[in-house]
Amino acid sequence: MSGVKYVVIGGGILGLTSAMHLLKDDDVARVILVEKTAPLAGISGQAGAGDLPIFWSERHRDLIERSWSHHLGRSSSDGRTRHPVAWNGFDADESISVWGGTVPMSQAPSDLSAPLRRDVNPDVLPQITASWAYRISPLAHGASLLRDLRRDPRFTEIIGEAADTIPTRGGVLVRLDDGSDIQADGVIVAVGPWITAADNSWASAARALGLRTKRVFGLRAQVEPGRRGTSAFADAEQAIFILPTTRRDEIAMSIRHAEWDVDAGPGDLPREVRDKGVDAVRRLTTWGGLSDIRPRVHVDTYTPDSTPHVVAAGNQRVVLITATHGSGIRLAPALAEDAVALLRKASVVPETAGRAQ
Ligand SMILES: Cc1cc2nc3c(=O)[nH]c(=O)nc-3n(C[C@H](O)[C@H](O)[C@H](O)COP(=O)(O)OP(=O)(O)OC[C@H]3O[C@@H](n4cnc5c(N)ncnc54)[C@H](O)[C@@H]3O)c2cc1C
Repeated sequence: MSGVKYVVIGGGILGLTSAMHLLKDDDVARVILVEKTAPLAGISGQAGAGDLPIFWSERHRDLIERSWSHHLGRSSSDGRTRHPVAWNGFDADESISVWGGTVPMSQAPSDLSAPLRRDVNPDVLPQITASWAYRISPLAHGASLLRDLRRDPRFTEIIGEAADTIPTRGGVLVRLDDGSDIQADGVIVAVGPWITAADNSWASAARALGLRTKRVFGLRAQVEPGRRGTSAFADAEQAIFILPTTRRDEIAMSIRHAEWDVDAGPGDLPREVRDKGVDAVRRLTTWGGLSDIRPRVHVDTYTPDSTPHVVAAGNQRVVLITATHGSGIRLAPALAEDAVALLRKASVVPETAGRAQ
C-alpha cells in the first residue's frame, strides 16, 4: 500500500480526534492508533465535560472559534447537549472572557431566560448574565469517534502497548513495549497528563513548555428530587462550575483548589472544598440541598498560561499535544487540526514500510 503512514500515540479524545483529522486527507494510506491500556481509559474518560466558551488569551479564543465550528455539526446522539448558563461575577473578572459575550437577564430571549429564572436563586438573579454553552459527554463523543474511525479501512488499532519514538532519516520509528517497531512518516503524541513523567523527547518538550500536573477537585451529588433544571452555573469568585448530568436529579461540579506537581493515584476531597461546593449550590441555585455526595479527585495538566500547546517534540515529524485542564475536550477539534497542520509542514515522503515484527 503506498501513501503516507501516520501513528497516533494515545487513545483519549485528543488522539481519536487527531486520527479523524489525519484520515480526512486522501494522501493518507494508514493511521495506526497505539494505546497502552484502552481507548478513553485515560483522563478523557473522567472529565465532566463542560464546553463553556471561556478564554484568557488570543490563542485560546482562536481555539474556541475553530472548535465550535466543528462541534456545531454534532448533536446529542454523539454526546453534545445545550444548556443555558448563569454567569456570576465574570463581568468583573477582566482576566477571563466569554466567547460570544453574555447578556443581562433583561435582554435574554425567553428560551434562554425562562430556564434560568426557574433555576437561579432569586437573591443572585439581578447580578447574573446569560448565554448558551454545551456539555460534551467524552465517553459518548469518544465512542462515536471510534465508530467512525473503525469504519475506515485505513485505520488500525494496537491496544495494550506503550509506545516511544525514535527519529530516523526518513521519518520516525515507533517502538512498542513488545520490542516491535513501526516505521511512520509522522507521529502525533496525545498521551494525557502523565507525559512529564516519561524519559523521552516528548517529556522534555513538555517540560520546556512549563507543563505541570495539578490535582483537580469536583463532586457529583443528588439534588432534591424533581427540582433540578437544565441550567449550568459558572461562578468567577470561587471558580466553581456546576452542570446537570444526564442522570435524574444529579449534578456534577468542579471546584478550584491548588495542589501542584502531584503523581498519579487517588486523592481525597478536602473538607473545605466539599463545603464550598455544597455552599455554591445553596447560594446559586433553587435546587435544594445535596445528598449522596461523591468526590471526584483527579490529576490534570496545566501550562503557565493555562493554554494548550501543539509543538514539535525533538523531531519535526513528532508533534505533541499538551491540552490543559478544562480545555482538552472542548478544544480537541482545533488542537487536532493544528497538530495535523504542523505534521504536514515537515516535508513528508510517502513510505510503504509495514510493522516490523
Ligand atoms: C475532572 C476533570 C474535569 C475536566 N473538565 C473538562 C471540561 O469541562 N472541559 C474540557 O474541555 N476539558 C476538561 N478536562 C480536561 C480534559 O479531560 C483533558 O484535557 C483531555 O481529556 C485530555 O485528553 P488526552 O487525549 O490528551 O488525554 P487522555 O484522555 O489521558 O488520553 C491519553 C491516552 O494515552 C495513553 N498513553 C499514555 N502514554 C502512552 C504511551 N507511551 N503509549 C501509548 N499510549 C499511551 C493513555 O493510556 C491514555 O489512554 C477535565 C479533566 C478532568 C480531570
